[in-house]
Amino acid sequence: MNIANINEIRSLFPQLATKVRGKDFIYFDNAATTLKPKSMIDAITNHLSFEVSNIHRGIHYHSETGTRKYEETRNFLAEFMGAKYPHEVIFTKGTTDSLNLIAQSFGGSSLKKGDTILLSQMEHHSNIVPWQLIAERTSAKIKVVPVKDNGELDYTAYLNFIKDPSIKIVSITHISNTLGTINPIKKMIADLRVANPAAKFVVDGAQAIAHLSVNVQDLDCDFYVFSAHKAFGPTGFGVLYGKEEILNKMPPYQGGGSMIHKVTFEKTTYHDLPNKFEAGTPAIAEGISFIESLKLIKELDLSIIAKYEDELLHYATAKLKEIKDLKIIGEALNKAAVISFVIDGIHPQDLGTLLDQQGIAIRTGHHCTQPLMERFGVTATSRASFCFYNTKSEIDTFVNAIHKAITLLK
Ligand code: PMP
Repeated sequence: MNIANINEIRSLFPQLATKVRGKDFIYFDNAATTLKPKSMIDAITNHLSFEVSNIHRGIHYHSETGTRKYEETRNFLAEFMGAKYPHEVIFTKGTTDSLNLIAQSFGGSSLKKGDTILLSQMEHHSNIVPWQLIAERTSAKIKVVPVKDNGELDYTAYLNFIKDPSIKIVSITHISNTLGTINPIKKMIADLRVANPAAKFVVDGAQAIAHLSVNVQDLDCDFYVFSAHKAFGPTGFGVLYGKEEILNKMPPYQGGGSMIHKVTFEKTTYHDLPNKFEAGTPAIAEGISFIESLKLIKELDLSIIAKYEDELLHYATAKLKEIKDLKIIGEALNKAAVISFVIDGIHPQDLGTLLDQQGIAIRTGHHCTQPLMERFGVTATSRASFCFYNTKSEIDTFVNAIHKAITLLK
């Protein structure tokens, strides 16, 4: 499979061949969730049709097969993201669940009054609210690295913040879901290690895992989290990578079946990693099928994907900039294929509705980044986010549809 053969790639995603309101469907909402390849759909259907069982505890055929396949996804992921051991890959419900786990378990057991959690102004609500909840419980403080006018993190401010020894946790997104900014995570972690060696670095990788090559050992992050559904996988399934020695010291997040070693009413002992953090019956069909999405990403090669998506980004940016009264919010030098924009005198929701009538799916609103909206003095933007199965010809149709909408709305 070669990314240059776009028709072959598009044929792997059945939804791309559908019509919406009688028009060819154009999907530019990839930052919200990605479409699913047939291989993953087939794997989930096959499991639910012929291989259902509960895993990990059974000794019958399907339970053993299911367990093996579920654990294959973990092994594949460990290699995919460069973890040292498969048991450093914890399965969760998604990015939000992973961040809540880290905040409650790591934050809850280590933060104390006067400690500081450092976030950035471009964080998604799911990398803000879990920290607020734990800050309230532990009397820790939250500080925020500002974003510059061009959508980049204010690195000088970051360097100043991390000198503060009260900072215990830094939690920052790899790629902003609203601005597309790619943060220099590797450098940020290296600088944190020098300035504040005891602090831990959490990376919200929701927007990065399917668009950039990620190697957690090379980044040297303490935690890296993402959702499968943003990487061509199913909803309800996600990942928390953590360094073994940190995960081992953390208390369980939730209690229940599968996460225990021995239970008595007097005292319960917990399972080793990764089970300690995986209470209850997991999302089995989702976990088993996700490997197909990962295999596709691997086959297409993330460095080639990133290059192609960068081409789409620059093509669309140039075309959008030709539109009078359109302003792009977020013009970082290092940027993923996500474009937020506003048009003078037109509400994003009206634009989104008119584009939908042309079969074009974009996102409008605050993108779960209200503090960032406030920073840029807007309440909402329109956002187009691209993926390797999108084309320049779709971008042409999109830009023409915006011109048409402006004529109608102004
Ligand atoms: N962080 C970022 C940067 C995101 O883009 C998203 C999803 N929009 C999330 C966190 C939350 O992901 P989920 O809803 O899958 O838990």
